Amino acid sequence: MSHWVPELLAPAGSLEKLKVAILYGANAVYLGGQKFGLRSAAENFTLEELEEGVQFAHERNAQVYVVLNSFFHDKDFDSLGEFIQKLDEFKVDAVIVSDPGVIKYISENSNLEVHLSTQASCLNVESAKLWKRLGVTRVVLGREVSVAEAAKIKKEAGLEVEMFIHGSMCMAYSGNCVISNFTQGRDSNRGGCAHSCRFEYKLEGDNPITGDSFSKNSFFMSSKDLEGIRVLPEFINGEIDSLKVEGRMKSHLYAGTISKVYSEALAYYRDHGDFLSDELKTWEEELTKVTHRAYTEASLVEPASRDSIYDEREHEINEYSAVGSVLEARNEEGAKYLLVEVRSAFNVGEKLELLPFKGRAIEFTLDFIKNVMDEDLERTRPGSLVKVPYVEGAGQWNLLRRRLEQ
Ligand code: SF4
Repeated sequence: MSHWVPELLAPAGSLEKLKVAILYGANAVYLGGQKFGLRSAAENFTLEELEEGVQFAHERNAQVYVVLNSFFHDKDFDSLGEFIQKLDEFKVDAVIVSDPGVIKYISENSNLEVHLSTQASCLNVESAKLWKRLGVTRVVLGREVSVAEAAKIKKEAGLEVEMFIHGSMCMAYSGNCVISNFTQGRDSNRGGCAHSCRFEYKLEGDNPITGDSFSKNSFFMSSKDLEGIRVLPEFINGEIDSLKVEGRMKSHLYAGTISKVYSEALAYYRDHGDFLSDELKTWEEELTKVTHRAYTEASLVEPASRDSIYDEREHEINEYSAVGSVLEARNEEGAKYLLVEVRSAFNVGEKLELLPFKGRAIEFTLDFIKNVMDEDLERTRPGSLVKVPYVEGAGQWNLLRRRLEQ
C-alpha cells in the first residue's frame, strides 16, 4: 500500500542546480528570473534557461515555480506584462508573489497559477481566506507558523499550504526587515539582504532593577538553520501540501544532498507508512554533510525560543566540499571511467565519495586521473574535464565530494 506524502520543493539558483535537484529527487523547484525576485545575487535564469528548465522538469514530472516576490513600485509594472506572457508560454506551473497588486495583475492578465510568497506573512485562517478570494491557490506560510497551525489553515481556508522544512532562517517576520537597508544600504525587500541579523552587536544600557550599567557583545538576532527531518510525521499527518527547502544561493552539493535526503525519507514513508529511528539517524547525518550552521526546528512544533539563537561568530560547519560532477559514466571493454567536470582540484591517490541518486554515498580511490587525451595527471585544475576510475552505479550529474580534514 502506498501512503500519501507532500511535495518536496527545492531551490534552483541556476539551470544546473535545477537539474541536480530534480535528478536527486525534488518534485518541484523554485527559481528567479532576471527581474522581480528577492535574490539579486543568485545566478537568476535568462528566458532561454527558464524555457529549458521547465522542459527538463516537465519531462521528469516535476513542477517549476517562478519567484516574483519583490514589492513593486508603479514603474516596475511596465515590464511585468511581457515577462508573465513568456512564463505562460513556457507553461510555468505557478508564480510566487507577495504584492496584492501583482497578484491582481497576474490573475487578470494570464493563466498562471499564483502562490502567495512567505514574504506576505500569512499566519492565520482569515488571512488565507482573503488571499484565496484574490485568486491565490497556495500560501507559503510564514516561518512563525507551527505545523499544527498550518494544518488548521489548510483545512479551514480550503487552499494548499507550503512550509519551510530546511535552510537558513530570517529573524524578521518573513523578510519584512530593514536592518540591512539601514546598516549596509542594501534593500532586503528588493533582493539585497546582507544578513545583518547574523552580525555581532554591542548591547549597552542600565539594569532597571540594580541600576548597574552593562555593556556586552552578543549575536542576539542570529538564528540557527532550520532542519525538519524529525518533524516529517507531523507534516504528513497535517497534510501539508509542499515542503520547501531554502537556499537558491547555495551550492550544487547542497541542492543535491538536501533533495536526496528528504526525497528518500518521503519515499520511505510512502512505502512503509512510518519511519525507523535508524533511518532517521542516517538522514540526519547526511544533512550535516552540507555547509550549515547548527540546526534548530525553530517554530515547527513550539514557538522558537532562545535555543534557536546561534550564539557564535558567523561560522558555518562544513564537513564536505563538492569537487565535481559526472558528465558521463563509461563502462565498456577498454573504456571504463567517469568523465568528470572538476570544480575543485583533487590529486591521484585521494579518496572521494560519489553521491548516487539513490542509496548511500560510495567511497572510491583515485587510482588514476587522465585528461581527455588519455594522458596521466597527478592533479586536476578547476574547470577542466578529466577521467577517473569508474564507480558501479554512477550516472550523469552525480556529484563527487571530498571529506574535509576536521
Ligand atoms: S537581515 Fe536577517 S532578519 Fe533582515 S531580512 Fe536579512 S535575514 Fe531577515
